[in-house]
Amino acid sequence: MTESTYPMLAVADALAIVLRETIALPASHIPLGSARGRVLAEDVTAPDPLPPFPASVKDGYAVVAADGPGIYLVIGEVTAGRMADFAVAPGSVAYITTGAPLPRGADAVVMVEETESLPAAGGRTIVRINSAVRPGDDVRPVGFDVAAGQQVLAAGTRLGAAEIGLLATVGAATVSVHPAPRVAILSTGDELVEVGTPLNAGQIRDSNRPTLAAAVEAAGGIVVDLGIAGDTQPAIEAALARGLAEADVLLTSGGVSMGNLDLIKPLLDRLGQVHFGRLRMKPGKPCTFATVEAGGRKRLLFGLPGNPVSSLVTFYLLGVPALRKLAGRPEPSLTRVQVCLSEPLRLDAYRPEYHRATVRWEPSLHDGRGGLLAVSTGMQASSRLLSMRSANALLELPQGDGVLEVGATATALLIDEI
Ligand code: AMP
Ligand code: MG
Repeated sequence: MTESTYPMLAVADALAIVLRETIALPASHIPLGSARGRVLAEDVTAPDPLPPFPASVKDGYAVVAADGPGIYLVIGEVTAGRMADFAVAPGSVAYITTGAPLPRGADAVVMVEETESLPAAGGRTIVRINSAVRPGDDVRPVGFDVAAGQQVLAAGTRLGAAEIGLLATVGAATVSVHPAPRVAILSTGDELVEVGTPLNAGQIRDSNRPTLAAAVEAAGGIVVDLGIAGDTQPAIEAALARGLAEADVLLTSGGVSMGNLDLIKPLLDRLGQVHFGRLRMKPGKPCTFATVEAGGRKRLLFGLPGNPVSSLVTFYLLGVPALRKLAGRPEPSLTRVQVCLSEPLRLDAYRPEYHRATVRWEPSLHDGRGGLLAVSTGMQASSRLLSMRSANALLELPQGDGVLEVGATATALLIDEI
């Protein structure tokens, strides 16, 4: 029997190797408007306080708290964006709107609902204040939301809506972030034709490249399309050379099994260092990982299996964490959750299996307390891309004998939103 010379690695060990070989891409400054989804490469602190002045929390009247309820002369008004050109002396009040700077002399705000406008007397505006307030009531002091010098974001933070808002608040018009990784994708195989091209005898359409391109984009990468290479060494090598010139990561699919025309492993071995060439997993056993020095930087090459499910599953398990780490995320692993099985699942006696499933919140689980239910996508052949359809999770089924029963718990790695 012909045996692969590559030792069979556990997926966890393979992932540790991939992450060890992966370092975050060098950061650069970009405009805040294009920073969503990027990861900060620097700590960000506030240069000035927010609010920068004592600000009213309500629409109402700026008062001297010690005055108490009663009838007062309104000496002026101050609205948001303007500074009062007067001071509030005891015995008088000023109309004020939310966000406006508290006038000098005032130390609290009475909201408008606790007041009553009285008929003007001799051109003078009069108001009845109905409730007592303490100094500071309904006033945001300087620095209440953000203190001057306070760190608002730490390096390693992924920028979502709130983080973009914080950066705008502290005046960060440009930010230092790790760029999105560029990922080159190559399909290999003499049998493959581009979608849209009529099939000749013996041919099939290339589905791995569009699949992986979509998965790369979903993972925040930028796709470099290397097309299809036939099963010849010069064709594959030329495509890889282009990929090395243009991308941080190369994904090939096909050509890593044990056949005569499985050229990828020897080629990667010649170009750089192959770190593993076989995984103890189902599907995806022949998955290969290598690093190549090019242009003074280490590039990551994943020789993914040709079977459509195998290539996508191995990309999720190893490629997505690598892309996340390149993009600067300190916790690049897929999210793991515990799920309940909705049907019995047979274990594989030889390899741990990544069973494709749709995980959703099920209110009736756990005596009505609710929980995550995993519904299998059905027949799990590694050629059957339908077994990935609507899958948002990979159930980590241990190697073993027998069956996991309905209601049994399993861990699941999330590959999409629940
Ligand atoms: P290989 O790893 O090259 O031996 O391919 C394993 C299986 O996956 C074969 O049945 C191939 O025809 C199929 N396959 C390889 N590449 C692709 C692809 N890009 N799209 C669809 N099927 C593929
Ligand atoms: Mg092939």
